[in-house]
Formats: sequence, C-alpha cells, structure tokens
Amino acid sequence: MSEITLGILGGGQLGSMLSIAAKKLNIKTIVYCNDQEAPARNFCSEFIHAKYDDNDKIYDFAKKVDVVTFEFENIPFKTLNELNKLKPVLPKPSINRLIQHRLAEKDFINKLNIRTTRYVKIESKEDMLPLEDFLPGILKTTTMGYDGKGQYPIKNIREIETLKIDFNKEYILEKLVKLKKEISVIITRYKNNKYEIYEPIENTHENQILRHSKIPAEISEKIFKQSKEWAISIAEELKYVGTLCVEFFIDRNDNLYVNEIAPRVHNSGHLTINAFNVSQFENHVRAVCSLKQIELKKLSNAEMINLIGNQIIPYRENLRLNDNQFFFDYLKKEIKEKRKMGHLTILK
Ligand code: ADP
Ligand code: MG
Repeated sequence: MSEITLGILGGGQLGSMLSIAAKKLNIKTIVYCNDQEAPARNFCSEFIHAKYDDNDKIYDFAKKVDVVTFEFENIPFKTLNELNKLKPVLPKPSINRLIQHRLAEKDFINKLNIRTTRYVKIESKEDMLPLEDFLPGILKTTTMGYDGKGQYPIKNIREIETLKIDFNKEYILEKLVKLKKEISVIITRYKNNKYEIYEPIENTHENQILRHSKIPAEISEKIFKQSKEWAISIAEELKYVGTLCVEFFIDRNDNLYVNEIAPRVHNSGHLTINAFNVSQFENHVRAVCSLKQIELKKLSNAEMINLIGNQIIPYRENLRLNDNQFFFDYLKKEIKEKRKMGHLTILK
C-alpha cells in the first residue's frame, strides 16, 4: 500500500479524473479549490475549499501532502511558488508561469525553431491600427484565457471601434490560420528524463470550444512525425515532469504550427482513459509521484464527444450505452451554456 498523498490545485473535471487515476494506484488525493461545488470533491479523498491566495489554508494543505500538482493553469504563480518551498510542485511553477502568458509562451516556442502563428503584442487600441497585415486575426488576452474566453475575432480595422475591448488588459493579436485541421499531442515526461507519448489526436472545435476528438488523426506521415518531435523538444527543453499537451494547427498547405501548450492533462486526452493501457491521468500521477513508468500500448481506436451545456440532458435521463461507449458526467450542479458538462468516449 502506497503512503503517498498527492495535492491537486483546482477541482474541475480534470481534477476528478486525476483523483480517479490516483485512487487506482492507492494514492490519496487532496483537492484544493476556490469553488465550493467543484466536481472533483466527488472523487478525491479530501477536499479543501479556500481561495488560492489564502496563505494559512495553503500552508495547511502543504503540510498534508507529499507532492503538489495542478489541473488548471491559472493558479497564481505566487501560490505555486510558496507551495514549492514547502513541498515539490510538479510541473515546476516557473513552467506554469511561462505557459500562462501567451506572449512568453509563443516567444519560447519560436526560440526552439518551432513554428507558431504570427503574433504581436497589443497594449492599446492605437497599437492595432497599423496592423492590417495581421488581419483577419484573433485578439487574445495574454493571461487567464481558456475555452475561447478573452478572445475577439477581428476581420478588419473598422471592427476595432465597435468591439468593446478592455485595454486595461494586455493582449496579443494573432493572424488567423486557414485551418485544415487541429491536432494535439500528449506527452508524459518522467523524472528520469524518459517519456511516454500518445499518437496525435484530431480535434474539432465549435465556437473555440473543443467538441470532438479522435484517434487515429487523419494526417500525413510528415505531420505525424513532426508533431511528435516538436512535443518532445518542448517537454525536453522545459525539463518537464508530468503530462503536457501541445495543441497544433495544420493549414491548407499542410504546414504545422504550435497553437498553445497546456502544462497539464488535457480535454483531448480523455479518450486515453479507454483507448490505452495507461491514461494521460495515470501517467501524470505516476510521473509526479515518481512511480514506475509503464510502456504505453494502444488498445483501440476511439472518438470522444464533449457534452456541452444542454447536450448532457439526454445522457443523464436515458442512459443506454453499448459496450464500446463510455459516458462521464462531471456532476456539475448547474447546466450552463458553453460549459463542459460531461463526455462520451466510443471505442472503434
Ligand atoms: P484557449 O486557451 O481558449 O484554448 P486557443 O488559443 O487554443 O485558446 O483558441 C481556441 C480555438 O480557437 C483554437 O483551438 C482554434 O480552433 C481557434 N483559434 C485560435 N487562434 C486561432 C488562429 N490564430 N487561427 C485559427 N484558429 C484559431
Ligand atoms: Mg486551446
């Protein structure tokens, strides 16, 4: 019986799935979240409801755990850094700080000679006026964005006047890529510098929110190899420990671009729970808790459908699943439009 207690900052569905994976490995989980009704409280061994800047509560949390990880990248850097003085935080807080910031993240990726979209920093409306070249584009807040939040698609300069953009925040303007496809690569790097990598997953978004993922991705051999190589370079350069996801764009000329990095387990990897011998969640727990690495084996092709807002209702009411279908309800109290409520994985 293992004696390890894993602390998880953030209590969303990713925290739930990490807790379930940990339980299977006999690891206790303590989830710390600022939302009283966080889904993960249903799955963890212990739940702490407190603000991320509550020093006393953070200190109590640290005393109870052996290692800390996070399921949500917008945890204040100060919290991660303070925690790291008491117990190891993995992946390292400095990695999270880098990736939390869209500008620093893209600068880092470009330094590795890896292609991203064209981008420019924007601090005021005036900054945007000469930038016709970057349009059509998407204006994104440099920090705190997720699931398309804090993003403004802009077709032409005139639209800037009509959009109510809060320039107290810092933005980047990204040139729109003429997308053929989006894929993601999930990799788990262990402390001994070894890693397990999943094959590229093909993703479809609706309104900037992930709707559908599948393996195998229908991509060329060139893209298959390049996306994995780039994910490995990024994980290596960061000396990353844990599971990381790289989101990619493929344009109509079959050019690959890194869109962004998620320093955590990722929605597109939910299908790894049923389609591989070791899921992205189990791999993450194994890596951060220094458990044995297991060679990854694919068990099946698969697709995953996110159930967003009301789409969960028929599944909750009339649950008749085939043997190859797996439904997961995140147990969120309130159904909200654009909110990820659950998912369905189908093995093929
Ligand atoms: P989030 O942090 O909200 O996931 P992303 O930057 O990944 O933000 O954007 C969400 C989605 O919006 C992408 O997966 C893609 O479908 C679309 N998108 C974002 N930026 C671009 C771009 N520069 N060109 C084309 N599509 C984009
Ligand atoms: Mg994204």
